[in-house]
Amino acid sequence: MKTIFFDVDTQLDFVFPAGALAVPGAENIVGNLEKLTRFAATHSHQIISTADAHTEDDPEFKIWKPHCVAGTVGQQKCAVTLLPKHQTLTSQLQDFGSVPQIIVEKQMLDCFTNPNLSPLLKFLAADRYVLYGVVSEYCVQCAAFGLLNTGARVELISDAIQTLDPTAEKNLFQTFTARGGIITTTANVIT
Ligand SMILES: [Zn+2]
Repeated sequence: MKTIFFDVDTQLDFVFPAGALAVPGAENIVGNLEKLTRFAATHSHQIISTADAHTEDDPEFKIWKPHCVAGTVGQQKCAVTLLPKHQTLTSQLQDFGSVPQIIVEKQMLDCFTNPNLSPLLKFLAADRYVLYGVVSEYCVQCAAFGLLNTGARVELISDAIQTLDPTAEKNLFQTFTARGGIITTTANVIT
């Protein structure tokens, strides 16, 4: 069974309290993010990492406070989620078959708005995705349903995600499991 770890928006502006659009409590999942990243690396599971990469006047900033402007410190990924060998996704899919970590840049909540992501997933043909990151009911939710649409098994790691609204997260869990998704924990995945 081919497994890919799918890491959503674990960037400094979201994860740490000093970030431009900090998600309260997200700093508490950093330990698990590190465990998952290490496990993927030592077991040669590729990691796909989505990352906001906005311009300074991005239309999204009418809805959300400015965050993750390309080239700023806040746009960088948390160090514990970044492998030395990573590459930003382009349309040259043949280059990405064995890259340990693929960065998928995006300007909207849904990572599937990057036109290269769906072709990449077809090309890599995973049977199983291990999904985590921020924020549960926004970007993680978009990723969760998009990954389920591929027909693969999708495991959402409940102690490596962070919500802004526990009720919305609960609704996500219900819809996600009703559609065949699996909710599990970091310990279950790495042991
Ligand atoms: Zn954004």
